[in-house]
Amino acid sequence: YAKKKQGMAIQVFNSTLLKAFKDDAEIERDLNLAIRGRQFELYYQPLRDLQSKSYIGAEALIRWHHPKRGIMYPGAFIDIAEQTGLINSIGSWVLEAACKQLYLWQHRNIDMSMHVNVSARQFFGGNLYEQVWDLLTRYRIKPKTLILEITETELMEDIRYATNLCQELADLGVGLAIDDFGTGYSSMRYLKQFPISKLKIDRSFISDLNISRQSQEIVSAIIAMAKALNISLTAEGVETAEQERFLADNLCHQAQGFLYSPALREADFARFIEADKPVMLH
Ligand code: C2E
Ligand code: MG
Ligand code: MG
Ligand code: MG
Repeated sequence: YAKKKQGMAIQVFNSTLLKAFKDDAEIERDLNLAIRGRQFELYYQPLRDLQSKSYIGAEALIRWHHPKRGIMYPGAFIDIAEQTGLINSIGSWVLEAACKQLYLWQHRNIDMSMHVNVSARQFFGGNLYEQVWDLLTRYRIKPKTLILEITETELMEDIRYATNLCQELADLGVGLAIDDFGTGYSSMRYLKQFPISKLKIDRSFISDLNISRQSQEIVSAIIAMAKALNISLTAEGVETAEQERFLADNLCHQAQGFLYSPALREADFARFIEADKPVMLH
């Protein structure tokens, strides 16, 4: 019986694994067509300033309109894109699309900063600096309104290279944010070494903020540290008014999360921002 059970377990494991492989291969194949087929779209999630109580920026989040599978979230394909190197062309498309949008906003006097996620392969791939320089020049964007997000773990892959590139990007005037802060191996030493302009506290610390004393202490400590280092701070994944209150009371600068809005298509984002503007009294 044990043997039979074991055999079954292996069979189940194999067919699951096989399906996963086939799925990945299919996604890889489809990803190859996705850029040329204009199947990607950037959605924008608003970032709220907790002191001025207004929206000051957006994070660009990629969505894939798959012809058969429907809308796909980055969790389902970014890793595959990263492993196969396709992330380089996807990442270039994302940067260009985000900068084009930023240009359009600045043209329409919509005063927003744009946060763009950059993957490790893109960061260490060799031409991120040239690409950003080219985009800033072509779209005449105010450099400080573009903020590149990278995770601590990614930065740590090659500290010397990362330090140089971060410095070059900072010299261009663009902002650098550490994404998912608190989940990787960050060392205080590197926070000082990298010219970082912003930290984004990972949402795992925010989700249990109102029940976990420990998360409260961690978040307070991160806020104090960011303040001491003069780095701006965004809390990710804010879903409740209580979480917002804790963050505002503790002087966290900005918040992002479903409490305000999920990522929206551009037209919806623009309407959302417009609707939030204080009504002018004559
Ligand atoms: P991230 O950079 O940490 O982005 C935040 C993620 O949290 C987004 O998921 C967003 O929709 C989600 N989120 C925002 N507020 C809340 C909330 O209140 N509650 C919960 N539960 N979730 C919230 P999304 O769009 O699925 O993206 C997942 C990850 O994929 C991103 O995490 C980012 O690392 C990566 N990603 C997204 N777009 C791109 C891209 O254009 N390029 C690269 N390289 N990576 C991307
Ligand atoms: Mg991010
Ligand atoms: Mg990210
Ligand atoms: Mg994050």
